[in-house]
Amino acid sequence: MSGESSDGGGHSHGKKRPAGLPKNEKLVWDVLASTHDPLKAYEILDKLKDKGVRAPMTIYRALDGLESKGHIHKLEGLNAFVLCNHEGPHMVQTFLLCENCTNVQELELRAVEADIAPAVKAAAFQMSTARLEIKGQCQSCAEAA
Ligand SMILES: [Zn+2]
Ligand SMILES: [Zn+2]
Repeated sequence: MSGESSDGGGHSHGKKRPAGLPKNEKLVWDVLASTHDPLKAYEILDKLKDKGVRAPMTIYRALDGLESKGHIHKLEGLNAFVLCNHEGPHMVQTFLLCENCTNVQELELRAVEADIAPAVKAAAFQMSTARLEIKGQCQSCAEAA
């Protein structure tokens, strides 16, 4: 329902599925590519029942695999997953989360990574990932208000 109207940013997953994924990761990737909403593991499982996927473990493993390859991101606060809309894996992820609806948009902010990475390195810390969640109102909610 949400996000069908103008989103101003052409935010669509015109992404091609990464090559060489195991079967279950392909299935999960396709489900995430079919929506702009973040999906929880059980929602993904629900959509894959028709394809014969019944075990939650199968979904968790596929999500783990996709996440470790940088193809999807987990939104900790929502406990849900979205497709990465960048080319190539990146350590610092920036999301715009609407507090009013389920709209989530990933921003490509190289500046954040450029700032964070050297500071973390200077602290002699080995960063695996960092996530910036910017909360507020999406465009359609702001216009409706
Ligand atoms: Zn990403
Ligand atoms: Zn919204």
